[in-house]
Amino acid sequence: AFDVTVEPLPDTGEGRQAMILLHDVTPLVRAEQMRADFVANASHELRTPLTSVLGFIETLRGPARDDTEAHERFLGIMYQQAVRMKRLIEDLLSLSRIELHEHTQPTDSVDLAEVVQGIAEGMQLQIQNKGMTLVTDIPDSLPPVLGDPDELAQVVQNLLTNAVKYGLDGTTVTITARQAERGPAAMPQATRADCVMLTVRDQGEGIAKEHLPRLTERFYRVDTARSRQLGGTGLGLAIVKHIVNRHRGALMIDSVVGEGSAFSVFLPRCDRPGP
Ligand code: ADP
Repeated sequence: AFDVTVEPLPDTGEGRQAMILLHDVTPLVRAEQMRADFVANASHELRTPLTSVLGFIETLRGPARDDTEAHERFLGIMYQQAVRMKRLIEDLLSLSRIELHEHTQPTDSVDLAEVVQGIAEGMQLQIQNKGMTLVTDIPDSLPPVLGDPDELAQVVQNLLTNAVKYGLDGTTVTITARQAERGPAAMPQATRADCVMLTVRDQGEGIAKEHLPRLTERFYRVDTARSRQLGGTGLGLAIVKHIVNRHRGALMIDSVVGEGSAFSVFLPRCDRPGP
């Protein structure tokens, strides 16, 4: 898309001349389109559970007024829908908070082993409920990373939640962290050498190749109904991506359908050796 401006040039005696300026506004138009899509998607995601809650309130006030068994059941469904709306609003707020600070790189020294341990403890019940095993393999010698501990906890939380959600019952989820001599080309040049790689690997259904480039888009899901049923908002990986960008890191996804997926986050080291 182009903005066109016509500038008349002074008459040099060779007839009237003008300069036509073409200003490429494609990125602006695209950004505006993405913003509009995002608002439409978010509204739709919120309206669906709200419509369901309103429907049940009407039924409870009308036809099911004296049905105590229905009261109990409908309240249960309304509760679930309210939880879903709350989760979505929390994710939307996280996303906008991170975006607001995306140009400033965090500066704390963060021990990833500590972060992973905290999140793993909180997820224990969900892991047990699926008969899954969590294996963490983080060497004591792992150098600290340069980051924001709360945001990195959210990265681990979102990746581990997905591994448990999309992992098969009774399988193993592995979290490993290693020093890496060189990050991937997707990482900014300044932080690429000497970084730390954190990987969350599951033995789940895997993700077909064609979906991989779009997974970190807001509300992009391979199977929307399934994601919703599992309590997903479709924002988890978008949040991960923004946090990783703010850390000047990179997110790499490796997946084989029928075998499982590995999500690797590359982060800059805090105590990088000088040049
Ligand atoms: P959701 O809330 O839907 O899980 P995410 O942004 O976390 O949203 O993930 C986007 C989509 O990527 C999911 O809906 C799912 O289709 C796919 N996905 C994410 N993690 C995994 C995984 N570990 N295994 C298989 N598919 C995954």
